[in-house]
Amino acid sequence: MSLLTFAKIAWALGVVAWYVMRMPFERKAKRQRVADARHRTAREMTLLTLSTTGLGIVPAVYALTSWPRFAAYPLSLAQVVAGVLVFAAALWLFWRTHRQLGRNWSVTLEIKDKHQLITSGVYARVRHPMYSAFFLWALAQALLLPNWIAGPAGLIGFGTLFFFRVGREEQMMREAFGAEYEAYEKRTRRIIPGLY
Ligand code: SAH
Repeated sequence: MSLLTFAKIAWALGVVAWYVMRMPFERKAKRQRVADARHRTAREMTLLTLSTTGLGIVPAVYALTSWPRFAAYPLSLAQVVAGVLVFAAALWLFWRTHRQLGRNWSVTLEIKDKHQLITSGVYARVRHPMYSAFFLWALAQALLLPNWIAGPAGLIGFGTLFFFRVGREEQMMREAFGAEYEAYEKRTRRIIPGLY
């Protein structure tokens, strides 16, 4: 097996592992009654589509067809090793965040009936650890796929979702939890502990 094939398979296995991990939470979340869905807008759906395109569709097309070929560059072993490690870290963080958010989790922005504010565990370190996990995944994609378009597509797709969403998500949480969320905002950063 060539190094490139190995890297593509590692990327695909990472995505499959993420999906398998997420499925039971999707089922659980669907059973929760939604109290506030005002933030589930067409804009949110557009952002989710962009993110899915960058993290899923563009790299999948590349992995299967090597298209777009003009953007290919040679792959190094160090890059693949780093990519596998970063993807493993992303999956670990996904697992932690899904377990901790439990029935409060949703794909898009919404507040559930009996929504609980989670501020412990990985949520004590940053306010958006699941988004940190998505950035790690996107970084792993950029390392594992030696293509100047398919590699960074995840960072661009998810990055767009993140930067257009995070302010609104925090606004929604402040409306729902008031002073409790404001205090939580004062003692935490968004996605990188102590930095941002
Ligand atoms: N931004 C968080 C959660 C992503 S899931 C993270 O990156 O880990 C998105 C949903 O999670 C939002 O609709 C919101 O209702 C919920 N949410 C966000 N932060 C939360 C928290 N600290 N406790 C409980 N629910 C939260």
